[in-house]
Amino acid sequence: MIVVMEERAAEELVQRVIDRLMEDRFDVHRSTGVLHTVLGGVGGPDTFDTAVVQMMEGVKEVHRVISPYKLASRAFRPEGTIVKAGKVEIGGNKVVVMAGPCSVENKDQIERSADIVADGGAQLIRGGAFKPRSSPYSFQGLGEAGLQMMREAADRRGLGVISEVMEISQIPLLSAYSDILQIGARNMQNFNLLRELGKIRKPVLLKRGPAATIEELLLSAEYILSGGNYDVILCERGIRTYETYTRNTFDVSAIPAVKKLSHLPMVGDPSHGTGRRDMVPAMARAAVAAGADALLMEVHHDPEHALSDGAQSLNPVQYMDLMKQLRALAPVLGRTL
Ligand code: PEP
Ligand code: MN
Repeated sequence: MIVVMEERAAEELVQRVIDRLMEDRFDVHRSTGVLHTVLGGVGGPDTFDTAVVQMMEGVKEVHRVISPYKLASRAFRPEGTIVKAGKVEIGGNKVVVMAGPCSVENKDQIERSADIVADGGAQLIRGGAFKPRSSPYSFQGLGEAGLQMMREAADRRGLGVISEVMEISQIPLLSAYSDILQIGARNMQNFNLLRELGKIRKPVLLKRGPAATIEELLLSAEYILSGGNYDVILCERGIRTYETYTRNTFDVSAIPAVKKLSHLPMVGDPSHGTGRRDMVPAMARAAVAAGADALLMEVHHDPEHALSDGAQSLNPVQYMDLMKQLRALAPVLGRTL
């Protein structure tokens, strides 16, 4: 149930509604907008009569939420959410770029990467230190040493850091080094991991699973939100279809769909979305045109020798060229970059 309070309703009235909902065992989540306070009541009895709350002083509207996700739904925060990751804001007018290698490979590589992505105008550097590889014989990442190298390189260039957390035990480490914790596509429905991420107070970027529906993505976000961590960012990274030309099928339409259904920022990852660096620029432009709040892209100083995902990593020239195009495109869409 969503309760929208009157404009600038007094705190005492808001508290009375919260108390009344809690009396019926609702878990109450609060969103304080510029004008309206919105309360999200989760759980509670199905038989609860919304008129009880509707009639309370200071209440403007009450809606029963029929979608299975409540806190992720647009109704909870109609104006949208801006997630702050360090100095970077995701979900506002500015299109944020998060770029870097698939994996942190060594000090030289990540230092060069920081220079390339910062020179091109990205605000965050990406790079996996714990890698979910399809084969156990492939490079698995450098672990903490990799995170340390990436943090140093990022700080030198004033960049934020985003890196993947694969399991619960890695959360403290990732929280220490990274500004955003990435949940990989393969872990989108690792519900125990999602619950733990609901307890921390760091932004989480949740990738859509390769076989997940948009509703399942939003339900996974709900696991994190219901734990009290409201800094969730969603990401389309391609889904598995019968097409084999591309690594995945980049579902551009998921971007406007999520923006309509949810208040959470939505990111496009055209690198995993296509698996081919020759197609990344076109899909990056498409994602921005479709309303993406940010792009997550793989860039490598020497893609032919990358230890993972070289085929989909932009080389520095391609990356610089794309950033130039995006800077021209954003204003046409009423955005900045
Ligand atoms: C990655 O970002 O390098 C990655 C492993 O992505 P995904 O989880 O989307 O496959
Ligand atoms: Mn990758």
